[in-house]
Amino acid sequence: MLTIAMPGVILDGKKVSQQIQDDLRPVIQTLSSRSRPPALGVILVGDNPASQIYVRNKIKTCHELGIRSVDLTPGASIGTAELLGLIENFNKDPEIDGILVQTPLPKHIDTQQILLAVDPDKDADGFHPLNVGNLVANRPAPRACTPAGIIELLKRCQIPIASQRAVVVGRSDIVGKPMALMLLHENATVTICHSKTRDLAEECRGADILVAAMGKAAAITREFIKPGAVVIDVGMNRLTDESEVNRLFGHDPTRLAAFRKNGSTLVGDVEPLAMQELASAYTPVPGGVGPLTIAMLMTNTVRLAERHLGGVCSDA
Ligand code: NAP
Repeated sequence: MLTIAMPGVILDGKKVSQQIQDDLRPVIQTLSSRSRPPALGVILVGDNPASQIYVRNKIKTCHELGIRSVDLTPGASIGTAELLGLIENFNKDPEIDGILVQTPLPKHIDTQQILLAVDPDKDADGFHPLNVGNLVANRPAPRACTPAGIIELLKRCQIPIASQRAVVVGRSDIVGKPMALMLLHENATVTICHSKTRDLAEECRGADILVAAMGKAAAITREFIKPGAVVIDVGMNRLTDESEVNRLFGHDPTRLAAFRKNGSTLVGDVEPLAMQELASAYTPVPGGVGPLTIAMLMTNTVRLAERHLGGVCSDA
């Protein structure tokens, strides 16, 4: 029998991010008129250009939604004690609902100590060990934004999760591990892979839902993808070599024009052409997972504000 491959459906992260934000608006309005707007305390240490862009986008989204942001930008030479002092001020401030400390922090700062200092009741990123424990126990709590956004995307796009074989490549604290737990709580059968996994391609080929979060440009090639799988590409890797752009995007004129204009382009952890051809549905890079992360940061902040000010509608 002749089978004709159909290009996979694009899971539009931008659109779903907008839907999530639209759902938050009435809650923010009610909180604002009843007491005060939700508020996010943001700490960006130093001048890492990528972090500056991420933080700028997060603050912009806060303002678009009517969430107040209080932004602190200490220089890279700030010491751990002084940074802990800034966090403590946010912890004690009754007008602040969520705290975001943008990572990575400069090398001389103990990141674990800093994340531990954030009040778990203001943990907008869901990184505090107490909230990680809540996730393990499947109790309501702020959850890591990127994997929470992916679950939201799958649900809103009606992708079944229960009873599916999910393979997560990557075991970081911010993506891989919480992703695996969230899929498990949705009743998927979950495998976690990492750099010591014996035969990564074979593990991945068993996936109905494949989540790639390795930080390795286009490392998941066609031999890793089961035809018809749902592929979620979390990776964000910058390509600066034009021949690589041509190889990976098949001389796509739009991509090439953007590359020539900016001097670089983003590619995920999955080979784009293989993903488009083999997956039944997939997240593009950019425009897939990225926008969801910010939407879930806003969701966490609003939920924390509801906790502090009294709930409006708990399923927002
Ligand atoms: P990370 O902390 O560097 O973790 C990478 C994970 O991938 C590790 O667990 C590592 O295994 C595993 N890995 C690396 N190379 C591998 C290989 N060849 N085979 C199998 N596993 C391998 O990265 P992260 O913070 O989780 O981020 C991953 C990617 O997602 C990055 O590209 C990042 O930029 C992107 N990201 C995107 C968003 C978004 O909003 N779109 C948010 C967060 C992250 P070991 O543990 O054995 O070392």
